[in-house]
Amino acid sequence: MEDCIFCKIANKEIPSSFVYEDEHTVAFNDLNPQAPTHILVIPKEHYASLNELDNEQVMSALFTAVKNVTKQLNIKEYRTVINTGESAGQTVFHMHIHILAGRPLKWPPG
Ligand code: AMP
Ligand code: ZN
Repeated sequence: MEDCIFCKIANKEIPSSFVYEDEHTVAFNDLNPQAPTHILVIPKEHYASLNELDNEQVMSALFTAVKNVTKQLNIKEYRTVINTGESAGQTVFHMHIHILAGRPLKWPPG
């Protein structure tokens, strides 16, 4: 999708170093990390949010990617977050899964 920053990252139009890539997903470090490890896993295809994500193969690939990334980086304790919609804190409207690790995380989130 034009003018989508995460599509540009996935398409390698914007240089970014991927920590993981497979057929359907890529993962890269968050620009503004909220924890010592803060990785975003995104589908290569554009879905504005989880509400628009209707492809079960991609859904499955996203979970597999989270597991592969954490395994690859030997991260055993982490939080995954999907913000869906503005009031939930979504600011980039290309669906993504946050992986946060490396410090104690409080609950409930703000
Ligand atoms: P959310 O608020 O859930 O939509 O998360 C969007 C995340 O994308 C934020 O944590 C941002 O810091 C991150 N972000 C925005 N632009 C970039 C970028 N160019 N590269 C990496 N992360 C980004
Ligand atoms: Zn996009």
